[in-house]
Amino acid sequence: MLTRIKQLAETLAPRLIEIRRHLHSYPELSGQEYQTSAYVAGVLSSYGLHVREGVGKTGVIGELNGGGADPRQLAIRTDMDALPIQEMTQLDFASRKPGIMHACGHDVHTTVGLGTAMVLSELQDQLGGNIRFLFQPAEEIAQGAGWMVADGAMENIDAILSVHVFPSIPAGSVAVRYGALTAAADNLEITIMGEAGHGARPHEAVDAIWIAAQVITTLQQAISRTHNPLRPVVLTIGQMTGGRAPNVIADQVQMKGTVRSLHPETRADLPQWIEEIVASVCQPYGARYHVDYQAGVPSVRNTASLTQLIESSAQAICGSENVRVLTEPSLGAEDFSLYLEHAPGAMFRLGVGLPDQVNHPLHHPQFEVHESAIVTGVMTMASAALNYWQQKRS
Ligand SMILES: [Zn+2]
Ligand SMILES: [Zn+2]
Repeated sequence: MLTRIKQLAETLAPRLIEIRRHLHSYPELSGQEYQTSAYVAGVLSSYGLHVREGVGKTGVIGELNGGGADPRQLAIRTDMDALPIQEMTQLDFASRKPGIMHACGHDVHTTVGLGTAMVLSELQDQLGGNIRFLFQPAEEIAQGAGWMVADGAMENIDAILSVHVFPSIPAGSVAVRYGALTAAADNLEITIMGEAGHGARPHEAVDAIWIAAQVITTLQQAISRTHNPLRPVVLTIGQMTGGRAPNVIADQVQMKGTVRSLHPETRADLPQWIEEIVASVCQPYGARYHVDYQAGVPSVRNTASLTQLIESSAQAICGSENVRVLTEPSLGAEDFSLYLEHAPGAMFRLGVGLPDQVNHPLHHPQFEVHESAIVTGVMTMASAALNYWQQKRS
């Protein structure tokens, strides 16, 4: 079976590269994946999958029936959206849309999803179970997974697998991680309300800018003193507005930021902890405040048995020397975690590094991938899917 998967994936390689280049040339922003989803639906239909469009707004579902009367499905999720970045590569197939670029490799993910569907459609008789391919929109704004779930994408799902490109390791290799893969990412907005006054007479005013500066400093210092350093929290204030004139004491300052954490217990304590710090800084000076803590996506926590399934499948098909186990998670975020609230799952990292070259990070205007990674991704995903149902049936 391994040889068959390899053969099929390698035969498909030129077609997959063509698909990826097409997607790369015509990127679409989150929630606007109209051409991409129509294209994906077309490819899936031509391989005989049962297709549903407009799932989760601009998402697509393709189903491959291999399970007979058993309604359970194994989901394979790939995302399709691009970023508001002006591409600065010299590629022939660089983005033809000004200011929009596939700089996070979702064009590769979509192609891996399609390639896996193509390979498994040839092996439908041997599948032993159903596969539901989820082509998700709007991952970059952390909305698409929620839209898909609300539209029933997780009904009857037994387990879910996914993939993200990883420029830090070379193409031809994959990486897995047991436990946390990415962080929870929450949004924070703090408003400090003081009292305006003459810049020369601070004692008659309440200086919101000075207090806001202290709030930031205190939050950053207190995090290192009150949180277990083995349970990371990163708080970043990335935006700050306030004040009216150089000689007028500011009456209001607004700060916006992101809060990243790995452990659910740590995350649960953060809203109250932040509010207490802000209150303790504001109160002595008579400033008022408002803290708005909005929960974003939770941490992706890979299920051990499914991580093991991907690891052993990848070892068998790509060679053990090409499979790494990551010791550290990322504090980036992924809305794949929202599916994991409904079924166990695992996401692996697909090496896309170029040999002997600078590998720009994700979200960089010169981000590039080594396209041989597509076949590696397809082989890994297809064999993990086959092995999943084989293990269930045995
Ligand atoms: Zn991204
Ligand atoms: Zn991404």
